[in-house]
Amino acid sequence: MTTHFDLIAIGGGSGGLAVSQRAAEYGCQVAVIEEARLGGTCVNVGCVPKKVMWYAGMLAEHFDMAAGYGFEVTASRVDWGQLKLRRDAYIERLNGIYAGNLERKGITRFEGRARFLDARTVEVDGQRLSAEHIVIAAGGEPMVPAIPGAEFGITSDGFFALDSQPRRVALVGSGYIALELGGVFHALGSDVTSVLRRDRALRDFDEMLGEQLLAQMSEDGVQVETGFVPTALERLEEGLVLVAEDGRRLGPYDSVVWAIGRRPRSDGLALEAAGVASDPVGFIPVDRYQQTNVERIYAIGDITGQAALTPVAIAAGRRLADRLFGGMEGRHLDYGNIPTVVFTHPPIGTVGMSEAAARAHYGDDQVRVYTTKFTPMSWALQSRKVPARMKLVTRLPEEQVLGVHVIGEGADEMLQGFAVAVRMGATKQDFDDTVAIHPTSAEELVTLR
Ligand code: FAD
Ligand code: NDP
Repeated sequence: MTTHFDLIAIGGGSGGLAVSQRAAEYGCQVAVIEEARLGGTCVNVGCVPKKVMWYAGMLAEHFDMAAGYGFEVTASRVDWGQLKLRRDAYIERLNGIYAGNLERKGITRFEGRARFLDARTVEVDGQRLSAEHIVIAAGGEPMVPAIPGAEFGITSDGFFALDSQPRRVALVGSGYIALELGGVFHALGSDVTSVLRRDRALRDFDEMLGEQLLAQMSEDGVQVETGFVPTALERLEEGLVLVAEDGRRLGPYDSVVWAIGRRPRSDGLALEAAGVASDPVGFIPVDRYQQTNVERIYAIGDITGQAALTPVAIAAGRRLADRLFGGMEGRHLDYGNIPTVVFTHPPIGTVGMSEAAARAHYGDDQVRVYTTKFTPMSWALQSRKVPARMKLVTRLPEEQVLGVHVIGEGADEMLQGFAVAVRMGATKQDFDDTVAIHPTSAEELVTLR
């Protein structure tokens, strides 16, 4: 078997698969080393199974709305076990498709944990492999707080392993995962407590988004606890109890989910053997070409600590292969204006600068903001209403659109096209000159006054 390659990717997740396949398309000899399931976090314990669960939650919400449209519906509770079985079977099919793709493209797959022996050589399962170029795409893993009893809680990985639906759940964290999984549990009928250590959610985004989401969650019956800094998790006969720094106690719960961020999986790679530098947390710094401090060793995706999103890892990987093997000198990923969606209920879509960031960067007198709040038409026949809010952040004098921020039904599918416009430098006038699509929620973004 070949042991010398043009490119080795460490990690068969979003980034590793993308760089390998693009390199193979250029005729390179490529190896992918993956110690777990192909597809990595996104496919196995991230975006894909999460989106399945989000769809299930949306369906439950639509069942609730059906009576408002005159349907006689007797919606029963979801059979979580069935849902999991069907979801797992779908993921398994995807794993198979990924394996087939590698085979078809002539990529050699090694199953096992890779570690560097030197800057040109890695070892996997006792075999030594060498390459002209090595790409580290080892991703990340969930963090758990260093507090007594933390082991009684689960992480997002544990969420996807749940065979049955916990009735009482607390989610600790204020980012994507806590809010998305909390939304799923609530939509499917669990009693949910959202536990935030500060008073805001999604602090990296425009303030309007987290504010509206927390208001909606409270309105919908989620218990939102702010300023709660967990110091212990106790397992009592009646369930799990969270204890705060200030003595507050929350619970009992059947399940507590830690969603407090992810750390890089650089332990065990023996980076020092290759001389690859990492920061104190373990993230691997790279330049704009994904180059580490060692020549011909690159890092892409979550392990770099930049925008931990699947399309980012994929785009960085493909551009790297284009540059190395496709003759596209200078090709690299521009990390500006990356659109992103938080799959909450309702969803959030956001691209570009928040209002606060724009004001801090350009000054108050250079920034003009347009906002709207309305009830999407789908709620017209319902007694329950879920409002949408939108914001355009523009820079004077041309009113170039710096940011588009939406929370509300359809935000998830709405933002991709607007992200193209922002990237191209569209102005408010360009938005206004675009004929609206009616009746939609998206049309509000081209009719803002
Ligand atoms: P990964 O996909 O994590 O792949 C790394 C791979 O490397 C893993 O398979 C791992 O087993 C392997 N590996 C690690 N070390 C070694 C080693 N030494 N030897 C061999 N193999 C090794 N992003 C979105 O864009 N949209 C979403 O909706 C979304 N939802 C998410 C939901 C959840 C719950 C989570 C946790 C993440 C979500 N993400 C989402 C983020 C997304 O999953 C990641 O950004 C993406 O998977 C990163 O790709 P990667 O290639 O850097 O790493
Ligand atoms: P995030 O970084 O998004 O959010 C975690 C938050 O939890 C922190 O920002 C912090 O917020 C809070 N926190 C940190 N430590 C503690 C602590 N000890 N106790 C209580 N709260 C704490 O991490 P996630 O785990 O939610 O997700 C990881 C990444 O995965 C995301 O950043 C995203 O890049 C990716 N992802 C993307 C998704 C998508 O695209 N839809 C979905 C899921 C994940 P604060 O400082 O405000 O307290």
